[in-house]
Amino acid sequence: MKKLLLLFILFYSGAKAQVFTVDTIIKTGPLNKRINFVYLADGYTAAEQAKFITDVININNKLFNTIPFTEYKDYFNVFAIKVISNESGIKHASTAPDCPGVGTHPVSNPKNYFGTKFDVANIHRLVVPDSFAKVNAVLAANFPEYDQVMVVGNTSFYGGSGGALATSTTHTSAAEIMIHEIGHSFASLADEYWAGIQYATEKPNMTAQSDPLLVKWKNWIGSPGIGVFAHSGSPLWFKPTTGGTCKMEVLNPAFCRVCKETFVERIHTLVSPIDSYIPSNAATLNISNTIGFKTNLLKPIPNTLNQTWFLDNVQQAATIDTFTILSGSIANGNHTLRTTVVDNTSLSRADNHLSLHTYNVLWNMSIATGVTEVQVFNAGLKLFPNPFAENLVIQYKLSKPSSVAINLVTANGKNIPLVQEKKQMQGSYSSTFSLNRYGLSAGVYTIVFIVNGQTIAREIIKLK
Ligand SMILES: [Zn+2]
Ligand SMILES: [Zn+2]
Repeated sequence: MKKLLLLFILFYSGAKAQVFTVDTIIKTGPLNKRINFVYLADGYTAAEQAKFITDVININNKLFNTIPFTEYKDYFNVFAIKVISNESGIKHASTAPDCPGVGTHPVSNPKNYFGTKFDVANIHRLVVPDSFAKVNAVLAANFPEYDQVMVVGNTSFYGGSGGALATSTTHTSAAEIMIHEIGHSFASLADEYWAGIQYATEKPNMTAQSDPLLVKWKNWIGSPGIGVFAHSGSPLWFKPTTGGTCKMEVLNPAFCRVCKETFVERIHTLVSPIDSYIPSNAATLNISNTIGFKTNLLKPIPNTLNQTWFLDNVQQAATIDTFTILSGSIANGNHTLRTTVVDNTSLSRADNHLSLHTYNVLWNMSIATGVTEVQVFNAGLKLFPNPFAENLVIQYKLSKPSSVAINLVTANGKNIPLVQEKKQMQGSYSSTFSLNRYGLSAGVYTIVFIVNGQTIAREIIKLK
C-alpha cells in the first residue's frame, strides 16, 4: 500500500531488472486499498514455474487458514512473480558448524536467480537470498506496490528465514515455516524459543520487563497459556507463552493471543475497513431531495466491525452501512453527517486499539430551498470521457460572473489543483486537462468544483 519508491530506484540502478510473469493468486480489491503479499520464485527453472505456483498455493492456503489471516483474508491481495532461474535448486556450501553432513544434505551451487543459499550466518537452516539488490530490482520492475515479500526456494530440504523478506523452501513443513517467518517479517514478532542473545531485543512478544502489571501484553495475563515466562537461554528476557504453545516457538500450534493481536494491529495500520463510500467526497452536498449515504466496509469473518452514525453530532439508531436523510426532515442550513467504524475484534486488547483505529467519514451538507446557484452550475456541468485515459474535458456554464476553482482529489484525499481560484465572466467554458503528468493510477477520483464558495463533486474513473 505505502511505497518507498525512491529506495527502489536507488537499488534499481545497481542491478539489472528483468520483467517476469506475475500471477494473481487472490485479488480482493484495488492494490492501494489492500495489503499486497508477493511470492518470488528462486531456484525454479522456466520448466518448473507451474510447480512454483502449486508450491505458492499450498503455502498460501495454509496461511489464510491461520488465525488471524482467516478473519482478515479480504484485506489481502496475493501475487506470485515467476522469476526464472537458469538452474534448479538452492545453494548449499556445507560450511556451517551445524551442517548435517554432505551425505544427508549434499553441497550444491546451482545458478539460481537471487543466489538463495543455506548456511547463512553460520546456521545451516538459515536460507536467505544472496542479492537483496536483485530482489528489490525485480520488485521495482514487476510489482512495486508490494507490502510483504516471501521468497520460495526450490528445494525440499528444511530451511527458512525472516527479515525484511520471509523465506522458506518446499520442505513438507514449508507452509508452517513461511507462516512463522511472516510473523517476523510482517509483524516484527520475536522467536519464542531462545534464538540467541544477538536476537534479544524489545518486540511485541519479547521484553526485559518481568512485572505482569507492566508487561506489554498485560491485558492478556490470565488468559489461558499467557503469562510472563523467562526465556530458556536468559533470565533477563521474557515471553508470553511457554512449552511450545505459540507458532513463534515451534511449528504447528496456533499463534498465541499476543502474536495474533500484533497481526491484527499491523493489518489495521495498513488498511482501512472503510473501503469506499458514497457520496464520495467530504465537501458540501446540496440536498434538497432525499439522499442516501452508504459505506462499503471490508468485513472481517465473522464481522467484528461496529458502525455508528451521527447527524449533527447526535448518535442515530442506524448501525448498518447505509443512512438516509429524507427531504424536508431537517431544517435549512448547514448540517454534518458522520459515520464511525471500529473493529471490536476479541483478537485485540491493545490499549491504543480504538484511539489508533477508529475510522470516520464526515459529510458536510448545506440544505436550501429553491434552486441554488450550485444547482444551476451542476445542471450545465459535463465531464468526458468518463472513464478517461489521459485527457479530461470539463465544460460548464456560468449564469453570472463567478469565482471558480477546480481540484482533482485522489482516493486518499490528496488535492491536485487543476484551476486555481479565479473570477470568470458569465458564459460557457470548455477546457481539456491532460492528467497524464500527475502519474495517476487506475481508479476512482473526484473532481471538486468550488463556485462562489459552494462545492460540487463529481466522480471520474481513470483507466489503466
Ligand atoms: Zn549446511
Ligand atoms: Zn506468540
